[in-house]
Amino acid sequence: MTDTENVNRAELQKFGSHAEQWWDPEGNLKTLHQINPLRMDFIQRHARLNGARMVDIGCGGGILTEALAAAGADALGIDLSADLIDIAELHGLESGVNANYRVVSAEDLAAEQAGQYDHAVCMEMLEHVPDPAAIVQAAAALVKPGGMVFFSTLNRGTKAYLLAIVAAEYLLKMLPKGTHDFNSFIKPAELCRMARNAGLSLEGMAGVHYNPLNKQFSLGPDVGVNYLAAFRRLT
Ligand code: SAH
Repeated sequence: MTDTENVNRAELQKFGSHAEQWWDPEGNLKTLHQINPLRMDFIQRHARLNGARMVDIGCGGGILTEALAAAGADALGIDLSADLIDIAELHGLESGVNANYRVVSAEDLAAEQAGQYDHAVCMEMLEHVPDPAAIVQAAAALVKPGGMVFFSTLNRGTKAYLLAIVAAEYLLKMLPKGTHDFNSFIKPAELCRMARNAGLSLEGMAGVHYNPLNKQFSLGPDVGVNYLAAFRRLT
């Protein structure tokens, strides 16, 4: 990759520093484990996974990639953190879930394998890159016409500031301090604009709701904090 690469190395290092804990359901990445069934639900409302060729962009240690593979997809997880790809591969050996992994950027994979995937997913990653629109373009380029592209990210509004940063990082300590930078959050309308510019059409959105009383996550209509979006590549 070149100097103009679309990556924030400090962000990669931050995620890489959690590598050992990635699969600990009570560790730093606990929230990703907790919301994973909801993400799978959302994805399966819009796409059939059995037999589908799928790419998971910014897969980290493979929490979602493994779930996709377990649901019958031929899943490739990609990430620029080699430490996390190692963890994902090791975990696959332990769990016996058959996913593939590569250290490659979304843009480079799109140049190599344009239109070769049925669907793409990219969760909790856009808010950590310098140019999210370029990732949206690459995700759209990777899927076939008619294929689905799924994103999740955090909304840049007061509610997300209070809940995803103040409450989650500082008060409830659900996430390590400094996990998120409010300025990198993305409003749904901004994500939709990036998607439209990439030839994607919105098919559905859902918000992730957290109930601190029973510590349960659920999907609902409020996209004020963490939200999921499903887009279809038109042509
Ligand atoms: N998508 C996974 C992990 C989210 S954490 C999940 O939701 O379970 C964010 C991930 O994005 C980390 O694994 C980090 O290494 C990765 N990442 C950050 N910038 C990236 C980039 N430019 N290209 C690929 N991966 C990136």
